Amino acid sequence: MPRSKIQFQEGLSLREFVNKYGTEEQCRDLLFKARWPDGYRCPKCSHELYYYVQTRRVFQCRQCRHQHSLITNTIFTSSKLPLTVWFLAIFFMTQSKEGMAALPMSRYLGISFNAAIRMKHKLQMVMKQADDVQPLFGLVQIDDAYWGGKRHGCKRGRGAAGKTPMIAALSRDTKGYPRHIRFSRVAGFSSDEIKRWSEKHLAPKRAVFT
Ligand SMILES: [Zn+2]
Repeated sequence: MPRSKIQFQEGLSLREFVNKYGTEEQCRDLLFKARWPDGYRCPKCSHELYYYVQTRRVFQCRQCRHQHSLITNTIFTSSKLPLTVWFLAIFFMTQSKEGMAALPMSRYLGISFNAAIRMKHKLQMVMKQADDVQPLFGLVQIDDAYWGGKRHGCKRGRGAAGKTPMIAALSRDTKGYPRHIRFSRVAGFSSDEIKRWSEKHLAPKRAVFT
């Protein structure tokens, strides 16, 4: 089963990064493939055909008319910032062990200091959760429904209705510097599904998350 993922290559220069992820379309394209590697499916009725409502940037199911956006239920949901800014922030945050301070980040990204702090906080939580789980290659859930370790309203293993469970994996080099961040869609957060995901995505020599 093919699984697309967002992955920034090791040693990617800022120039290369901007070439690859410098436009909103490029970022949306990548996120779409990560969320729906086998093509869009309505989260309500699983129908595959949809209209794209350009003005509201939502996918509307042709069968049940349910509307869903690319960023619904991701860490990007409640943010008004474009994906290009988020992607760039992830790039900066993963360039060193310390990440990047909010002040230079706000200047580089052209966003307010407060916005930079909020963004950093979200990304750091993703990275910290990765550290807590597994120091070399961690798993975290980026779905807002499971944000901060709270799983309100979630039926174990199946996910809340209409949510797309996503896993972000962060790998580090031997010095502990973050190298890759990878987002994948999973069927749910049951231990079986996590095990399946781990076997597929984690190198055998690494300990498997349990
Ligand atoms: Zn539908």
